[in-house]
Amino acid sequence: MAQPRPAPGSASTAPHGVVCGVCGTESRQHTFRPAAPEQAPDLDLRPGQPIRGTMARWLQQCPHCGYSAPDITQAHPAAAQAVGAANFRALLNDASHPPLARRFLAWALVLEETGALHAAAEATLHAAWIADDMARPDLASAWRLEAVALWRSGPPLDAEQRVRVVDALRRTEAWDDAAETAHALLRENPPEPVVQVLMLELRLIEALDTGRHSVATALPPPARRPHVAHQKSVKRGEGLRGWLKRLFGR
Ligand SMILES: [Zn+2]
Repeated sequence: MAQPRPAPGSASTAPHGVVCGVCGTESRQHTFRPAAPEQAPDLDLRPGQPIRGTMARWLQQCPHCGYSAPDITQAHPAAAQAVGAANFRALLNDASHPPLARRFLAWALVLEETGALHAAAEATLHAAWIADDMARPDLASAWRLEAVALWRSGPPLDAEQRVRVVDALRRTEAWDDAAETAHALLRENPPEPVVQVLMLELRLIEALDTGRHSVATALPPPARRPHVAHQKSVKRGEGLRGWLKRLFGR
Protein backbone atom coordinates (compact mmCIF):
# COMPACT_ATOMS: atom_id res chain seq x y z
CA MET A 1 0.00 0.00 0.00
CA ALA A 2 1.34 3.46 -0.85
CA GLN A 3 2.29 5.64 2.09
CA PRO A 4 -0.23 8.48 2.33
CA ARG A 5 1.16 11.98 2.43
CA PRO A 6 1.34 13.30 5.98
CA ALA A 7 -1.84 15.13 6.90
CA PRO A 8 -1.50 18.84 7.64
CA GLY A 9 -0.45 19.34 11.22
CA SER A 10 1.32 16.00 11.55
CA ALA A 11 4.97 15.39 11.08
CA SER A 12 7.27 12.47 10.57
CA THR A 13 10.95 12.49 9.86
CA ALA A 14 12.37 11.59 6.49
CA PRO A 15 13.20 7.86 6.35
CA HIS A 16 16.44 7.17 8.13
CA GLY A 17 18.43 4.03 8.88
CA VAL A 18 17.52 2.17 12.07
CA VAL A 19 18.70 -1.16 13.50
CA CYS A 20 16.01 -3.65 14.57
CA GLY A 21 16.18 -4.33 18.30
CA VAL A 22 15.14 -7.96 17.74
CA CYS A 23 17.17 -9.23 14.75
CA GLY A 24 19.73 -6.47 14.16
CA THR A 25 18.72 -5.86 10.53
CA GLU A 26 19.08 -2.26 9.36
CA SER A 27 16.20 -0.69 7.46
CA ARG A 28 14.93 2.76 6.58
CA GLN A 29 12.01 3.96 8.72
CA HIS A 30 10.03 7.08 9.52
CA THR A 31 9.78 8.36 13.05
CA PHE A 32 6.24 9.59 13.68
CA ARG A 33 5.68 12.75 15.67
CA PRO A 34 1.97 13.24 16.26
CA ALA A 35 0.55 16.73 16.20
CA ALA A 36 -2.38 17.72 18.38
CA PRO A 37 -5.75 16.42 17.19
CA GLU A 38 -7.93 19.33 16.20
CA GLN A 39 -11.20 17.44 15.95
CA ALA A 40 -12.83 15.65 18.87
CA PRO A 41 -12.09 11.91 19.23
CA ASP A 42 -14.61 9.15 18.63
CA LEU A 43 -16.25 7.56 21.66
CA ASP A 44 -13.51 4.90 21.63
CA LEU A 45 -10.98 7.75 21.66
CA ARG A 46 -9.83 7.25 18.11
CA PRO A 47 -8.25 10.69 17.56
CA GLY A 48 -9.81 13.25 15.25
CA GLN A 49 -8.05 14.67 12.24
CA PRO A 50 -5.31 15.32 11.44
CA ILE A 51 -3.86 12.40 13.50
CA ARG A 52 -6.71 10.11 12.45
CA GLY A 53 -5.41 9.84 8.90
CA THR A 54 -1.79 9.08 9.80
CA MET A 55 -2.04 5.51 11.13
CA ALA A 56 0.26 4.18 8.41
CA ARG A 57 3.07 6.02 10.19
CA TRP A 58 2.34 5.15 13.82
CA LEU A 59 4.44 1.98 13.84
CA GLN A 60 7.73 0.93 12.31
CA GLN A 61 8.12 -2.66 11.10
CA CYS A 62 11.32 -4.56 10.47
CA PRO A 63 11.27 -5.94 6.90
CA HIS A 64 13.35 -8.95 7.98
CA CYS A 65 11.76 -10.37 11.17
CA GLY A 66 8.44 -8.47 11.14
CA TYR A 67 8.93 -6.91 14.59
CA SER A 68 6.57 -3.91 14.83
CA ALA A 69 6.74 -1.10 17.35
CA PRO A 70 6.63 2.70 17.51
CA ASP A 71 10.46 2.48 17.66
CA ILE A 72 11.87 -0.86 16.51
CA THR A 73 15.34 -0.05 17.83
CA GLN A 74 13.84 -0.67 21.28
CA ALA A 75 12.83 -4.23 22.19
CA HIS A 76 11.68 -5.74 25.49
CA PRO A 77 13.66 -8.91 26.32
CA ALA A 78 10.50 -10.95 25.62
CA ALA A 79 10.02 -9.40 22.16
CA ALA A 80 12.39 -11.83 20.40
CA GLN A 81 10.43 -14.76 21.80
CA ALA A 82 7.14 -13.22 20.63
CA VAL A 83 8.50 -12.55 17.14
CA GLY A 84 9.81 -16.12 16.84
CA ALA A 85 6.54 -17.73 17.96
CA ALA A 86 4.36 -19.67 15.54
CA ASN A 87 1.33 -17.37 16.03
CA PHE A 88 3.44 -14.32 15.13
CA ARG A 89 4.80 -15.95 11.97
CA ALA A 90 1.28 -17.09 11.01
CA LEU A 91 -0.06 -13.55 11.48
CA LEU A 92 2.65 -12.04 9.25
CA ASN A 93 1.81 -14.54 6.52
CA ASP A 94 -1.98 -14.17 6.76
CA ALA A 95 -2.74 -12.45 3.46
CA SER A 96 -6.47 -12.31 4.29
CA HIS A 97 -5.80 -9.42 6.72
CA PRO A 98 -4.86 -5.91 5.55
CA PRO A 99 -1.07 -5.42 5.93
CA LEU A 100 -1.42 -2.30 8.06
CA ALA A 101 -3.80 -4.09 10.43
CA ARG A 102 -1.30 -6.97 10.69
CA ARG A 103 1.35 -4.47 11.76
CA PHE A 104 -0.81 -3.35 14.72
CA LEU A 105 -1.71 -6.94 15.58
CA ALA A 106 1.98 -7.88 15.48
CA TRP A 107 2.72 -5.10 17.98
CA ALA A 108 -0.22 -6.35 20.08
CA LEU A 109 1.28 -9.87 20.18
CA VAL A 110 4.61 -8.49 21.39
CA LEU A 111 2.87 -6.41 24.07
CA GLU A 112 0.80 -9.39 25.19
CA GLU A 113 3.97 -11.51 25.45
CA THR A 114 5.54 -8.87 27.68
CA GLY A 115 2.46 -8.81 29.92
CA ALA A 116 1.29 -5.33 28.87
CA LEU A 117 -2.29 -6.47 28.35
CA HIS A 118 -3.97 -3.06 28.27
CA ALA A 119 -1.45 -1.78 25.74
CA ALA A 120 -2.05 -4.95 23.70
CA ALA A 121 -5.79 -4.19 23.83
CA GLU A 122 -5.08 -0.69 22.55
CA ALA A 123 -2.99 -1.98 19.62
CA THR A 124 -5.71 -4.53 18.78
CA LEU A 125 -8.31 -1.75 18.77
CA HIS A 126 -6.06 0.17 16.37
CA ALA A 127 -6.21 -2.84 14.02
CA ALA A 128 -10.02 -2.60 14.25
CA TRP A 129 -9.83 1.06 13.19
CA ILE A 130 -7.88 -0.01 10.11
CA ALA A 131 -10.60 -2.57 9.40
CA ASP A 132 -13.22 0.19 9.79
CA ASP A 133 -11.38 2.31 7.23
CA MET A 134 -11.20 -0.65 4.83
CA ALA A 135 -14.92 -1.44 5.23
CA ARG A 136 -14.21 -4.86 6.79
CA PRO A 137 -16.82 -5.02 9.60
CA ASP A 138 -16.13 -8.75 10.10
CA LEU A 139 -12.50 -8.09 11.03
CA ALA A 140 -13.35 -4.91 12.96
CA SER A 141 -15.82 -6.84 15.15
CA ALA A 142 -13.43 -9.72 15.77
CA TRP A 143 -10.61 -7.40 16.78
CA ARG A 144 -12.84 -5.22 18.99
CA LEU A 145 -13.90 -8.34 20.90
CA GLU A 146 -10.24 -9.40 21.20
CA ALA A 147 -9.41 -5.94 22.55
CA VAL A 148 -12.21 -6.23 25.13
CA ALA A 149 -10.91 -9.66 26.21
CA LEU A 150 -7.40 -8.25 26.63
CA TRP A 151 -8.65 -5.26 28.62
CA ARG A 152 -10.64 -7.52 30.90
CA SER A 153 -7.77 -9.96 31.42
CA GLY A 154 -5.43 -7.21 32.67
CA PRO A 155 -5.43 -5.16 35.89
CA PRO A 156 -8.62 -3.29 36.96
CA LEU A 157 -9.72 -0.76 34.34
CA ASP A 158 -10.09 2.96 34.92
CA ALA A 159 -13.22 4.86 33.86
CA GLU A 160 -11.78 5.92 30.51
CA GLN A 161 -10.88 2.35 29.55
CA ARG A 162 -14.28 1.06 30.67
CA VAL A 163 -16.01 3.61 28.43
CA ARG A 164 -13.95 2.25 25.55
CA VAL A 165 -14.99 -1.30 26.45
CA VAL A 166 -18.65 -0.18 26.35
CA ASP A 167 -18.12 1.40 22.94
CA ALA A 168 -16.31 -1.67 21.54
CA LEU A 169 -19.12 -3.93 22.76
CA ARG A 170 -21.81 -1.66 21.27
CA ARG A 171 -20.05 -1.57 17.93
CA THR A 172 -19.94 -5.39 17.83
CA GLU A 173 -23.66 -5.68 18.69
CA ALA A 174 -22.90 -7.15 22.14
CA TRP A 175 -25.87 -5.11 23.40
CA ASP A 176 -26.47 -6.75 26.79
CA ASP A 177 -22.81 -6.78 27.79
CA ALA A 178 -22.43 -3.16 26.62
CA ALA A 179 -25.46 -1.97 28.62
CA GLU A 180 -24.47 -3.90 31.75
CA THR A 181 -20.93 -2.55 31.60
CA ALA A 182 -22.25 1.01 31.20
CA HIS A 183 -24.70 0.66 34.11
CA ALA A 184 -22.03 -0.86 36.36
CA LEU A 185 -19.80 2.16 35.77
CA LEU A 186 -22.68 4.62 36.28
CA ARG A 187 -23.39 3.07 39.69
CA GLU A 188 -19.89 4.14 40.77
CA ASN A 189 -20.68 7.86 40.28
CA PRO A 190 -17.98 8.62 37.69
CA PRO A 191 -17.07 12.22 36.71
CA GLU A 192 -19.77 14.17 34.85
CA PRO A 193 -18.19 13.92 31.35
CA VAL A 194 -18.01 10.13 31.74
CA VAL A 195 -21.70 10.13 32.73
CA GLN A 196 -22.53 12.15 29.60
CA VAL A 197 -20.65 9.74 27.35
CA LEU A 198 -22.26 6.71 29.01
CA MET A 199 -25.75 8.22 28.63
CA LEU A 200 -25.06 8.63 24.91
CA GLU A 201 -23.80 5.05 24.72
CA LEU A 202 -27.00 3.81 26.40
CA ARG A 203 -29.15 5.76 23.92
CA LEU A 204 -27.16 4.27 21.03
CA ILE A 205 -27.46 0.77 22.51
CA GLU A 206 -31.24 1.28 22.86
CA ALA A 207 -31.36 2.31 19.17
CA LEU A 208 -29.20 -0.72 18.13
CA ASP A 209 -26.77 1.79 16.63
CA THR A 210 -23.34 0.28 15.84
CA GLY A 211 -21.99 3.42 14.18
CA ARG A 212 -19.07 5.65 14.94
CA HIS A 213 -19.88 8.72 17.07
CA SER A 214 -17.82 11.62 18.33
CA VAL A 215 -17.22 12.48 21.97
CA ALA A 216 -18.40 15.97 21.00
CA THR A 217 -21.90 14.54 20.45
CA ALA A 218 -22.08 13.43 24.08
CA LEU A 219 -21.27 16.74 25.66
CA PRO A 220 -23.86 19.50 26.00
CA PRO A 221 -23.46 22.67 23.91
CA PRO A 222 -22.12 25.22 23.99
CA ALA A 223 -19.58 25.31 26.82
CA ARG A 224 -17.96 21.95 26.37
CA ARG A 225 -18.95 21.07 22.87
CA PRO A 226 -15.85 21.29 20.67
CA HIS A 227 -17.77 22.30 17.58
CA VAL A 228 -15.64 23.64 14.75
CA ALA A 229 -16.60 27.16 15.83
CA HIS A 230 -15.07 26.50 19.26
CA GLN A 231 -11.86 24.92 18.06
CA LYS A 232 -9.84 27.66 19.65
CA SER A 233 -10.80 26.17 23.01
CA VAL A 234 -8.60 23.19 22.15
CA LYS A 235 -5.12 24.48 22.62
CA ARG A 236 -2.67 23.44 19.96
CA GLY A 237 -0.13 21.02 21.29
CA GLU A 238 -2.51 19.91 24.01
CA GLY A 239 -2.82 16.47 22.48
CA LEU A 240 -5.15 13.58 23.17
CA ARG A 241 -4.08 13.51 26.83
CA GLY A 242 -5.33 17.06 27.16
CA TRP A 243 -8.62 16.10 25.58
CA LEU A 244 -9.04 13.22 27.99
CA LYS A 245 -8.15 15.39 30.94
CA ARG A 246 -10.78 17.88 29.91
CA LEU A 247 -13.39 15.31 29.01
CA PHE A 248 -12.84 12.82 31.78
CA GLY A 249 -11.53 15.10 34.49
CA ARG A 250 -8.28 13.17 34.87
ZN1 LIG B 1 14.03 -7.41 12.80
